[in-house]
Amino acid sequence: MDEESAKHGVTAGGDTIFALSSGQGRAGVAVIRVSGPASGEVLDRMVRSKLRPRRATLRRIMHSESGEVLDHGLVLRLPGPATFTGEDMVEFQVHGGLAVITAILDSIGQVAGTRPAERGEFTRRAFENGRLDLTSVEGVADLTNARTEMQRRQALRQMCGVLGTLYEGWRRQLIAMMAEIEAEIDFPDEGDIPADLSAGIALHAERMSAAIRAHMDDERCGERLRQGLYVVLAGRANVGKSSLLNRLSRRDVAIVTEQAGTTRDVLEVHLDLEGYPLILADTAGLREATRDIVEREGMMRTESCLRKADITMWVTSPDDRTIPENAPHPLVDSSALWVLNKVDLIKDDNFAIAGAPLGAETIGVSALTGEGLDRLTASLTDRAKAFLGKGEDVIMTQSRHRAALRECLNHLDRVRPALALGPEMAAEDLRRAARALGRIVGRVDVDDLLDVIFRDFCVGK
Ligand code: GDP
Repeated sequence: MDEESAKHGVTAGGDTIFALSSGQGRAGVAVIRVSGPASGEVLDRMVRSKLRPRRATLRRIMHSESGEVLDHGLVLRLPGPATFTGEDMVEFQVHGGLAVITAILDSIGQVAGTRPAERGEFTRRAFENGRLDLTSVEGVADLTNARTEMQRRQALRQMCGVLGTLYEGWRRQLIAMMAEIEAEIDFPDEGDIPADLSAGIALHAERMSAAIRAHMDDERCGERLRQGLYVVLAGRANVGKSSLLNRLSRRDVAIVTEQAGTTRDVLEVHLDLEGYPLILADTAGLREATRDIVEREGMMRTESCLRKADITMWVTSPDDRTIPENAPHPLVDSSALWVLNKVDLIKDDNFAIAGAPLGAETIGVSALTGEGLDRLTASLTDRAKAFLGKGEDVIMTQSRHRAALRECLNHLDRVRPALALGPEMAAEDLRRAARALGRIVGRVDVDDLLDVIFRDFCVGK
C-alpha cells in the first residue's frame, strides 16, 4: 500500500465480514460482530425494527431467511466511519450456547455479500481505513495476548498510540526539513541553499539522531516485557531443578525422578511475578562428559538456553558431590543467581555455596519444604523490575521497530556530509530516513508486513 491509499478513507464496497468475537466454547454471553456495507441488510433481515445508533437494545433476533426467532439479545447498530473498522458495523450479544451461535452465524451468512472473517480481519480493516496505525495494531494484538499486568499496561499504551505518535512526530519533522530544502532547490538562481538553512537542518538532523539513539538505548526492555524475561534454571543433574520449577510454578510440570539426567528437553513455564512476565526454563543437567547422544543433545540445548538467558539460576545441592571439584559452566558467572537447593538436608545454618564467585547473590532454598522460596521469588521480582522498568516509558516492543530506526539513523547521519555535497543529496537522505519511520507506523511498504502481523491474531479481532 502506498502513502496515499493508507490515508484515512473508508473502503467502499467489498465484502461484509462476520465472526464470533468472544471466545470459543459455551459461555454466558457470546459477541458476534459484523462489519461492512451489508451490515444494514443484516439488521433489516434479522431484527426487523429500527435501532438508534450506538445504543444496546434488547431485541428478538430472527433468522434472515426463515424468520424463525433464534434468540433474544442485545443488538448494536454502529454506523461508520466512527467505528472500530471504520465501516458500518453490527454487534449481537446473545446467549453463549453453541446452537445459538451456529444459528446466528448461519443466518448472517445467508445475507448476500457476507462471508466469515479471517484472522485479524476486523483490525486489518481498521488499519486500512486509517483508524489505527501499525504500532496500534501491534498493541491490539499484544493486549489480546497479554498475560500479566505489566504486559497489559505496555500493550494498552501502544494501542493508544504512544509509539505511533512518537515515530509519526519524527517523520513529520523530517518531511518539513525536506520541504525546506526542496523549496530552495526549486529557486536555484542563488546556487546552493543558504548557509544558515543548511546549518539549521544539519543541527536538527543531529538532534533527532541523538533522540533516536537515546530511545534505542533501552536494553530491549519493551521487547523483553512483551515476550517475558527468560530465566534459565541450570545446574548438574539431580540437584533439584525440576522440583524447583514445579514449586515455583505451583504445578506439576516437570517429571521429577531419583535418576540423574531425566530432564533432557527444555521445559518452559510462564510465571507472573507482581505483574512481571517470566519464562522459566528447566534444562538438562550439565555433566562433564557423556556418551549418550540424547543427553549430549540435551546439553547443547542447555547451552543455547544459557546464551539467551536474561537471568540464570545456577542450582547446586549439598548432596551433589561433584561440587566444588567441577566448576560451573563457563556461561555462569557472578551475575547469575546462585541457588543452593535441598537446605533441608543441612543440619547447621551454613548455606554457603562452594565455588560461588565473589559478589554473586546466593540463596538457600528447599524445593521439598518450601524454605527460602519467598526470598527466591522476591529476588527474581527485583531483577525483573530492574530489567523491565515500570512499563511506563515510551519504549519499542518489536525488533522490526529497532531495524527501521537503525535504517533511519543511517540516513540521518549522512545529512550533514550530504549537505556539503549538494542539497538534493541531503533531501534524498531525509526522504529515506522518513520512509524508514513510515514503515513502522505503516504509511509505506507494508504489504509484505501485514500478513506477518495479522497472522498472530485470532478470528473475530
Ligand atoms: P534435577 O535433575 O536437577 O531436575 O532434579 P530433580 O528435581 O529431578 O530432583 C532430584 C531428586 O532430588 C529427586 O529425588 C527430588 O525429590 C530430590 N529433591 C529435589 N529438591 C529437594 C529438596 O529441596 N530437598 C530434598 N531433600 N530433596 C529434593
